[in-house]
Amino acid sequence: MKTIGLLGGMSWESTTIYYRLLNQHVKERLGGLHSAKCLLYSFDFEEVQRLQHQGQWEEAGDLLARTARLLEGAGADFLVICTNTMHKVAEQIQQEVSLPLLHIADATAERIRKNGLGKVGLLATGFTMEQDFYKGRLHQKYGLDVLVPEPRDREVVHQIIYQELCRGVIKPDSRQRYREIISRLVEQGAEAIILGCTEITLLVNQDDSPVPLFDTTAIHAEAAVDWALAVDAPPAHRANPATSA
Ligand code: GLU
Repeated sequence: MKTIGLLGGMSWESTTIYYRLLNQHVKERLGGLHSAKCLLYSFDFEEVQRLQHQGQWEEAGDLLARTARLLEGAGADFLVICTNTMHKVAEQIQQEVSLPLLHIADATAERIRKNGLGKVGLLATGFTMEQDFYKGRLHQKYGLDVLVPEPRDREVVHQIIYQELCRGVIKPDSRQRYREIISRLVEQGAEAIILGCTEITLLVNQDDSPVPLFDTTAIHAEAAVDWALAVDAPPAHRANPATSA
């Protein structure tokens, strides 16, 4: 089994889900007392979110890249960034280490394509919904048509992530607002919804949506176990061919 290097704590509310899922999947696949080999670095999310909101992406990328080097030195075989948003600096990290990176958008897009879907709604932080590093990858690499909520709805989705979900606050009212935003995306033609923020799974589940939900946390964790248990070395700099449906 390979050792998974996790850049976590962004926020820790979702990293705990990753940790549980990684171990559960390894246990299911190998049985006995098997569990996932992993190295976790958990950031102080206050520091990271401050850099994000001040637009200091270069500094944020530097922070993550330095930490990725630590994980490489400690024996990680590949890297998992436990947040969609911080994939904005994925290339910067990739330049600093020779470890393969399991990109969350690749794992998610492959799963969507396997399900024969092409037009998807994206719920995520404002950074992920509005900038090109994520939507662009889904479109250019996988041909997905990505719909995002209108500006007012994007603001609601973003605020609930940072003010509530990343603090472990789960409110029925916020769930209702997400349900309404999902409905509007479906009215515009979304055949599926990407939960493109690793905390959203704390708030909504399949019962809240008339179309299939693709939970990036669950998909990413499962793909990481595919890589960890694959016989071959993880494929560097490309999408994971082993992501299961
Ligand atoms: N975990 C969230 C994501 O998947 C948001 C927190 C962050 O900005 O990293 O995007």
